[in-house]
Amino acid sequence: MTIMDFKAIRRELHSRPELSGEEKETARHVESALREFEPTKIVRHVGGHGLLAEYVFAEEGPTLLFRADMDAVAVDEPADLCPHHSLRPGVAHKCGHDGHTAILLRLAQRLRETPLRRGRALLLFQPAEETGAGARAVLEEGELNDYRIDKAFALHNIPGAPLGSVLCRTGSFTCAVTSVAITLTGRPSHAAEPQNGVNPGAAAADIVRETLLWNQPDKTREDYFLATLVEIRVGEEAYGVSAGEGVIRFTLRAKTDRVLQERLRRLETLVGEACQRTTGLRHSITRVEPFSASENDDSCVALVREAARQEGLPYREAEQPFSWGEDFGLFTQHYPGALFGLGAGENCPPLHSPLYDFPDELIETGASLFHRIAALATQQATSN
Ligand SMILES: [Zn+2]
Repeated sequence: MTIMDFKAIRRELHSRPELSGEEKETARHVESALREFEPTKIVRHVGGHGLLAEYVFAEEGPTLLFRADMDAVAVDEPADLCPHHSLRPGVAHKCGHDGHTAILLRLAQRLRETPLRRGRALLLFQPAEETGAGARAVLEEGELNDYRIDKAFALHNIPGAPLGSVLCRTGSFTCAVTSVAITLTGRPSHAAEPQNGVNPGAAAADIVRETLLWNQPDKTREDYFLATLVEIRVGEEAYGVSAGEGVIRFTLRAKTDRVLQERLRRLETLVGEACQRTTGLRHSITRVEPFSASENDDSCVALVREAARQEGLPYREAEQPFSWGEDFGLFTQHYPGALFGLGAGENCPPLHSPLYDFPDELIETGASLFHRIAALATQQATSN
């Protein structure tokens, strides 16, 4: 198989995008390609439509996990953007997960052609990254519990960074992010007699004002925290009625899981206290799409750096974590690991933009980098 074929695979995946949790056809496609590269074992239905391919090498050694995400996003792609444009209206690969998947397939081929001397490589084609549900499902279902994973790696393409450059950092690489919906339930009444109802307006105003005061926008600080108000709604457009219910939605992000959890506890207290000031007002808080921070391990970052050097790729230490969430973060909470960025080019449109398309050149770059990391990580184990 040639490099051209991986480009074709990537483009085929691109034209048939599937949303988080619906990656059935993608998984089928991945599996048929994967069989050609003869893994020791393939496990299906990992965390939903995920696939796990295992390569066992000649000698005993460490177990490495490489992960790619497979899901697309709910964005409409202009039909004239590229010849391989999405055939599904309203769904498109605008985060480059088609490219990440192609990279991992190419890694499978590389591991078949040039096996490592020792150890074991697990290639995880993960579903539902965009909702944060995929990594959680994979870890909860326990397929990985059969292994003692020594190191875990994943990459994400980064538009705006020079094509093929490598970006990484020790500590947080992407933020811990969660969305919260706060529902306030009171009782409507005649607007002339608000005292006969339970109006959530005052509590809603207190909650929003207080929460936004906690913002610490300085990303150099460990207690970096950003609450963004997404929606606030109380009552409806009915002038004769005193509002009886309301909803507030925030996205919350922090540099570490610890800070995010602490702020969430503080938010629960705040909402409880604000509601107590209005007799009869009830509330509920729902967390939506939580992402753990990717907290990169020192030794894994050193391997990424050395692999980039040996591959002749420019390496840059990111000064600050990215403020978006990536559900690989949850793996770094379980195993020593590193998530790193691979530059998609300075002129590449941003992720989730309708004009974005994964640069095919990165398939070979990403796979070579992963293969180099694998070789270094398994060599290293013998010299330790
Ligand atoms: Zn993504």
